[in-house]
Amino acid sequence: MSRFWSPVVSSLTPYVAGEQVVLPDLVKLNTNENPYGPSPQALAAIREAATDVLRLYPDPTALRLRTAIARSHGVEPDQVFVGNGSDEVLAHSFAALLKHDAPLLFPDVTYSFYPSWSRLYGITFREVPVDEGLQVRVADFRQPCGAIILPNPNAPTGSALPLQDIEALLHDHPDQPVVIDEAYVDFGGTSAVPLVARHPNLLVVQTFSKSRSLAGLRVGFAIGQRPLIEALERMRDSFNSYPLDRLAIAGAVAAWEDRGWFETQRDRVIASRERLAGALRALGFDVLPSAANFLFARHATISGEALAAGLRARSILVRRFARPPIQDHLRISIGTDAECDRLVAGLAELVDPPA
Ligand SMILES: *Cc1c(COP(=O)(O)O)cnc(C)c1O
Repeated sequence: MSRFWSPVVSSLTPYVAGEQVVLPDLVKLNTNENPYGPSPQALAAIREAATDVLRLYPDPTALRLRTAIARSHGVEPDQVFVGNGSDEVLAHSFAALLKHDAPLLFPDVTYSFYPSWSRLYGITFREVPVDEGLQVRVADFRQPCGAIILPNPNAPTGSALPLQDIEALLHDHPDQPVVIDEAYVDFGGTSAVPLVARHPNLLVVQTFSKSRSLAGLRVGFAIGQRPLIEALERMRDSFNSYPLDRLAIAGAVAAWEDRGWFETQRDRVIASRERLAGALRALGFDVLPSAANFLFARHATISGEALAAGLRARSILVRRFARPPIQDHLRISIGTDAECDRLVAGLAELVDPPA
């Protein structure tokens, strides 16, 4: 607290990101980063962009990147909005589209940034409980509301809803904006982008951070019909007109166009995920089926707190959310097979300690 603060500052509950620690021999499976590097073509493009031209501001609308994204998603460039990570795109969505008199709905087990943005922008929200299996039931969203947001696949469970469920949600709420946060869709979900043409209330948000291995570059985007995109543009131009720098635009375009690299690394992550799920089940873990680049798992007898602490003592970081009903779950990002093996070895010691 400080007398220099604006009144809003003390009312905020900032999002707490997974730790970014640097330790020798660390196995970092706590922030859903991709274990494999970005496209070599993206790295080359970033290097080529690092010239005297950096004295000039970048294209505020990143038209080159929006055109590349639009082409492969079958939409027009003016239906694409890009931002400094999808967190920024989502933040603008909260302010521009999700604040209404009636409450914003999102699942009670979901991306923990949603309540933070709601408080930042003074949005009243209602958390819709997931079922006993931690699954989102779209029928439970059939209630009066101002807007809806949910990740698909959901975070931190990794569970994906079929497209029929998203369509049902859009049909149930034709007069409310519905934002689908597809941060993990490339690892096994089905994108709602093809529904954009028929649903003026749908905004789909994706990121380069996970499936394109560019968490450090900070690039995310949204696709929707013009009025929704225009709302985001108005927010951007009231906040920061140049959210993507020249290096980010160059790197993101090259990464987007290197489809082969993307598919190869994505398939490796999916294969490691299924391998790790099997190993965890063999150790007595209940593992939710995942369509993401992480697993959400709970041991039959050992608390999440004890497991996370035991792993940490072995320089293995995973993410845990210390709140019911998920306090005993670990969210484990998919690493290389070698990293997953170290995790399994550590868990094996904790589950069945040597005498
Ligand atoms: C990782 C994540 C994001 C944000 O990613 P950016 O790095 O800001 O693009 C958004 N939504 C969910 C559910 C995420 O897990």
